[in-house]
Amino acid sequence: MKPAPVLAALAVLAFLPARAASGPGVVTDIPPVHSLVARVLGGEGAVTMLVPAGQSPHDHALRPSEARALGAADLVVIVGGGLTPWLDRPLATLAPRAYLVVLADIPGLPVPQREQDAAPGTGAPDSDHEEGSDPHLWLNPQIAAIWLPVIADALADLDPPNAQVYRDRAEAAVREVLDLDAALAARLRPLSAKGYIVAHDAFRHFEHRYHLDNLGAATTVHDLPPGAARLSTLRKLVESGDALCVFAEPGETAIAEQLAAGTGARLGVLDPLGAGIEPGPDLYPRLVANLADSLEACLGR
Ligand SMILES: [Zn+2]
Repeated sequence: MKPAPVLAALAVLAFLPARAASGPGVVTDIPPVHSLVARVLGGEGAVTMLVPAGQSPHDHALRPSEARALGAADLVVIVGGGLTPWLDRPLATLAPRAYLVVLADIPGLPVPQREQDAAPGTGAPDSDHEEGSDPHLWLNPQIAAIWLPVIADALADLDPPNAQVYRDRAEAAVREVLDLDAALAARLRPLSAKGYIVAHDAFRHFEHRYHLDNLGAATTVHDLPPGAARLSTLRKLVESGDALCVFAEPGETAIAEQLAAGTGARLGVLDPLGAGIEPGPDLYPRLVANLADSLEACLGR
């Protein structure tokens, strides 16, 4: 038997997502959750995500490869809380026996008592999120710090020989995330009285944690333009000078440009998902630090 076909087969295997023989196969929803899981899982297993970088998690059509990944998953880790309503049905039909961790349902998360308090004017009924709650929970690093040990426990249950490895990695990751959180709190403190508005209402947990002054959001629906009344209210905040900056999301700058046009307000970009960052364990801390960079660059002048 010639060795060539064997080598060819090995070469093909090398390009498949690395699936360690012993470790769990994990499916996640979005890049920041993928990043947190990858940090804990290390090389012990394989982790994939359903919503690729740069795509909205609020609506998504599963591709066949993603459906297969769900069907083969040992563990599924998602934010939940209304972030990905389209995922409920595929989860029930494709991965009924997978170990499911819904991060929004973990008790004790530091969320505002009434989330509207965090960002006045943004708790509007035309939200595509569950009314009054913001599912972009990962943007508060103190919440990520609570999630990490839960992720480690799930991996430990599925892969007992590596239980201590997962718990040690989670512990180190919690320290890193909380150090970053403290650094961001110090950096962002001078910005707490600087008003701004956002195109997408995704930052309430970040704003609540760091006491930022979000004056309003244009819309939570990526694909639908905001109503005329909402735009007019926001435009007045910009014209009056109360809102110093208008923040768009990456690749969706039209509404922000329209709101800032002809005023002294500056334009910025806030990226809640890490669209421009290489997926992996380093994405999460970079994503959060990038938000602080963007806020400083626009508001801190
Ligand atoms: Zn969103």
